[in-house]
Amino acid sequence: MGSHKFLNQDNRIFWNFKFNKSTKKMINIVLFGPPGSGKGTQAKILAEKYELKHVSTGDLLRAEVGAETVLGLEAKKYMDAGNLVPDKVVIGMIAGLLEREAGTLKGVIFDGFPRTVAQAEALDELLASHNAPILKVLSLDVSEEELVKRLLERGKDSGRADDQNEGTIRNRLKVYNDSTAPVADFYNTQGKAQLIKGEGDIDDINNLLCQELNAFAA
Ligand code: ADP
Repeated sequence: MGSHKFLNQDNRIFWNFKFNKSTKKMINIVLFGPPGSGKGTQAKILAEKYELKHVSTGDLLRAEVGAETVLGLEAKKYMDAGNLVPDKVVIGMIAGLLEREAGTLKGVIFDGFPRTVAQAEALDELLASHNAPILKVLSLDVSEEELVKRLLERGKDSGRADDQNEGTIRNRLKVYNDSTAPVADFYNTQGKAQLIKGEGDIDDINNLLCQELNAFAA
């Protein structure tokens, strides 16, 4: 019957409207800092607590290396030397992931990405197309001396070639200072960056991060 059809259609429109209104914006956060600053450790805890997806480009790249894909074989050369994998490769990985999963996620904690200003610009563009910008950049502050100590310690049992050689570690810190530190300025000008003390007890550092995240997760 015509009127029924009309009513059904109306109901469906109403239902869609309600659904959109109740859908919260994604909670997208960048965990920032030099190699060894604890991004991975903290991101894992935060992702579980706030039900966000932990996206580590380092982990994604290591999975590609492990599976001996074309991308992995290409990336391995850069990673073993402590250099950055080309922007195009990493941005492509993140674009694919967002394309597949953004609609299903409450939010993302980015760990180890973006690592160059070009990556940060690309991420802003990708997230704009999902109407889900980066809300906050939490930057872990750890002294260089402590970073080298932690990375060498991790190298004893992580099996990561890039953690076992002090020369490679020093190169990663140089790459961080040269290419990655400017990303903090990029987010500073957007008013999104926040420095967090990254030395001390893991739980204490986590509490500082949670204080920042609670503002969005309420
Ligand atoms: P860490 O923070 O301890 O250096 P990651 O797992 O984040 O460890 O990164 C390991 C390596 O993977 C980097 O040294 C780099 O070669 C590569 N990599 C990870 N993320 C990126 C990225 N966003 N851009 C370029 N290279 C990356």
